[in-house]
Amino acid sequence: MSSPGRGYDGRIVPDINGSRVAEILQQLVRIPSVNPAFPGGTGEAELGRYVEEFLYRLNLPAERQVVAGGRFNVLGTLPGRSQRKLLLEAHMDTVQTIGMTVPPFDGRIEGGRLYGRGACDTKASLAAMLAAIEALALAGIRPEVTAELAAVVDEETTYIGVSALAERIKPNAADYMGAVVGEPTGLAVISAHKGCCRFYVDVYGVACHSSNPAQGVNAINQMNKVLTFLSELHESRYPQRAHPLTGPPTVCVTGIQGGIAPNTVPADCRITVDRRTVPGEEPLVVYEEMKHQLEELASAEGLELTVSEPFVIDYAMETDRNEPIVRYLLAATQTYEPQASVQGAAYCSDASKLVRVAVPSVVFGPGHISEAHTQDEWIELSQVEQAACALRDLILSVKAI
Ligand SMILES: [Zn+2]
Repeated sequence: MSSPGRGYDGRIVPDINGSRVAEILQQLVRIPSVNPAFPGGTGEAELGRYVEEFLYRLNLPAERQVVAGGRFNVLGTLPGRSQRKLLLEAHMDTVQTIGMTVPPFDGRIEGGRLYGRGACDTKASLAAMLAAIEALALAGIRPEVTAELAAVVDEETTYIGVSALAERIKPNAADYMGAVVGEPTGLAVISAHKGCCRFYVDVYGVACHSSNPAQGVNAINQMNKVLTFLSELHESRYPQRAHPLTGPPTVCVTGIQGGIAPNTVPADCRITVDRRTVPGEEPLVVYEEMKHQLEELASAEGLELTVSEPFVIDYAMETDRNEPIVRYLLAATQTYEPQASVQGAAYCSDASKLVRVAVPSVVFGPGHISEAHTQDEWIELSQVEQAACALRDLILSVKAI
């Protein structure tokens, strides 16, 4: 998809060839990079070496940032005319391939779609970034801002890749005018998304023979009061805290365990709570609030209950829609997808870790989140090409402000 006649600083915009974009994506999908935390996890090292080679071949500097044993981010640079920086970030890891109904690593192309694990989440975004950088590097273009590429490990579990990247950026965060974090957004510019806080609640009862349950205290029945209370929070109280882009906070019970035998009144019951936060809510503050509410419920209802420390927290994020990264990316995308708009999302991403170190960030990429992690994961190739063109235009249009 070329942009004939459009130019920046009097230059002709280098063409981006759709079949080249497809070829890059196919190569990425053919390199397994299942997160090692998942069954069949290969890690991201081979894909990292591919990205490194890709940059070297364009005579661009590339560097490894070692994050853990055998796991490294790859950081590349397309030098600009100023020290102002634009970061393009995408994760290299994917989820497992168990149960897939298409070959996960063939990169089969059919009917304008490319199939395989990671095709949508988020190798398509990485391919679009690589294609944009390649087009500009081969044309010998030096944009006003320096574009940095970061292909990182471990987005699908504990975010160690982007966390290490954010630590590295932190001392010079003011140099960054913004970051684009690749995820399947359907070419929407996501300027706000939710965070989360996950913890366990245990309720204790007294075991006895279930032929005479009145002699004991049934922990599962007791837990029912907690479940009712959490539903009430979700349905009645959280809607008042809705954020205009992400919607309201949510609470979802995602697991339950209790009982040891069919003929014993259960003495223990545990639930897993997944509380999603909205911009403006701090996960640890939210956790303390819920802990307090549950302890109040316990004393009102005579429950014996404990609330564990959170085992996962992640941050919500929001970038002002007047930030240049939001405005320039939206304008660049609307050239190819006039319906593109600024939106919010319910999921978490690497972007919140960059926002925490004061880099204005947005989430953007081809494909739809509903196709991520699926049995027949696929991506519409025309959208990958549109994303590549939009990123190329972003790099060319953004000012060193
Ligand atoms: Zn992803």
